[in-house]
Amino acid sequence: MSLGVAQYAVASDTGRKRRRNEDNYVVEPPLFGVADGMGGAQAGEVASKLAASALEDGSDGALHGQDRVGALIQEANRRVYERATSDPAASGMGTTMTVALVEGGIVTIGHVGDSRAYLVRDGRMEQLTDDHSLVNELVKSGKLTAEEAEAHPQRSVITRAVGTDPDVDVDAFTVDAQDGDVFLICSDGLTDMVEDEDILEVLDRNRSDLDRAVKSLVAAANRGGGEDNITAVAFRIAEVADDLDATVELRRDEPDEETKEQIAPEPPVDTMVIPPERIEAELIEPGSPEARALARREPMGNAGRVRLALTMLVLLAIAVVLLVWGLLR
Ligand code: MN
Repeated sequence: MSLGVAQYAVASDTGRKRRRNEDNYVVEPPLFGVADGMGGAQAGEVASKLAASALEDGSDGALHGQDRVGALIQEANRRVYERATSDPAASGMGTTMTVALVEGGIVTIGHVGDSRAYLVRDGRMEQLTDDHSLVNELVKSGKLTAEEAEAHPQRSVITRAVGTDPDVDVDAFTVDAQDGDVFLICSDGLTDMVEDEDILEVLDRNRSDLDRAVKSLVAAANRGGGEDNITAVAFRIAEVADDLDATVELRRDEPDEETKEQIAPEPPVDTMVIPPERIEAELIEPGSPEARALARREPMGNAGRVRLALTMLVLLAIAVVLLVWGLLR
């Protein structure tokens, strides 16, 4: 008996506003990962798929720990960059990539972009990764509060991506795992829609049924608006025998009919990448005319539809009253 992956699960969903799921994932224990693609047309989907297959192909490397995770993400970067520079339709595409490699009681995390890794231990949850995003840079430098960041029109702008440059700077670090630890890797379609305390509550309540946990997380993100693709990969560390008895259910749901009807003609704020040195130049002040213009481009939410319907109803009622009044005179 030694520490290892006792159970794992994944759920990935298009959400309620996007036409396609441009997230991809890797569940090849002891290697797990999430990639959230970006780029015009279907390039985002190509980028995240290329990055995920680079991880799958490199699953049996001779390297270990941070060296291996770093090499895997560099290989993903090389493949995406090569395609982006050779195929005009894929120009400028890229992807986030957050990876976890379990080697006994050591979990190595590799990370680029704004997908996240979390650790749930003893009823508390810790965000392990630091978002490479415009709003996180601004929060760290004291220019934005966490609340302002959540609603910022440029919250999808990332400062680092896999595949946009010949080389990528990878954050890599290790975590000493304990019996019972639950790790979560997820795309921003989950964390933008669901508060950390609610993610913790779902993971803690379903710690022995991770399949149920990830499905509940996706459902919660859709209830919260489902504005982006949602992907959640979870695994639990425990004392395991050498013959691993893990369960998995792969889900890659297409939107159902009800969801399709709600898909907006224009996607909401899209992911894009800017280099850190251009952050100041690219920043749009919250409440500025540019920010309001960006906000107006977002599709009307349910509240907007209800307001519109009520307004129409009131106008109709006034018209009827005027008509009746005119006829009776
Ligand atoms: Mn996303």
